[in-house]
Amino acid sequence: MSNAAEAVPEVINLSAGEKGFVDEIKALGATHILDCIQCAKCAAACPMALAGFPFFNKRVIQAILLGLKEMLLDDTSIWACQSCNRCTEVCPRKVNPFEVMQAMRRVAVREFALPTLAIEGIKSLYDVGHAVYLAQAHENRVKVGLPQKPPSTVAHPTALRELQALLEQTALSDLGIIPMGKSGVKESCEV
Ligand code: SF4
Ligand code: SF4
Repeated sequence: MSNAAEAVPEVINLSAGEKGFVDEIKALGATHILDCIQCAKCAAACPMALAGFPFFNKRVIQAILLGLKEMLLDDTSIWACQSCNRCTEVCPRKVNPFEVMQAMRRVAVREFALPTLAIEGIKSLYDVGHAVYLAQAHENRVKVGLPQKPPSTVAHPTALRELQALLEQTALSDLGIIPMGKSGVKESCEV
């Protein structure tokens, strides 16, 4: 898997494109991707582009339209999306590039093409309810007069178990990317 420091290859083998990939992405939530006119307004607003990630929103869309699935899966850029939704606000064609990034992440999860950081984020979400959680901050929170734990799932075990039960009902559980089964709710239970 390449990273932000590496650029898009200078020569791209278009014959390697996977026919039907755009349909897969549409079915995973990016329903308006074919309305993209590659105007790059989304790229101008994207912090990923500013940070130098090779596959920011516009380029991800372009690569999907060309069927370059393996090239996208081989790169970590999609995991750098900040979910800021700036791209969605500025797109003149209502493509919702953020949803394209999410759809591409769903493909990556299905194909087990996740970077370690993403797996750690999923595990942390399941274990404490936050994709990013700094237990080391407990002491500093107390120093500034805050409760040791934030008033979220971290401090509310019942809410955490409910979240875990929900996650256990998703495809994540079937994929076995992280260990699950802490909620105590049977798999057949409707949540
Ligand atoms: S702003 Fe919309 S139409 Fe323009 S490149 Fe981005 S997704 Fe495509
Ligand atoms: S939501 Fe993601 S793709 Fe869209 S502008 Fe923000 S970081 Fe970029």
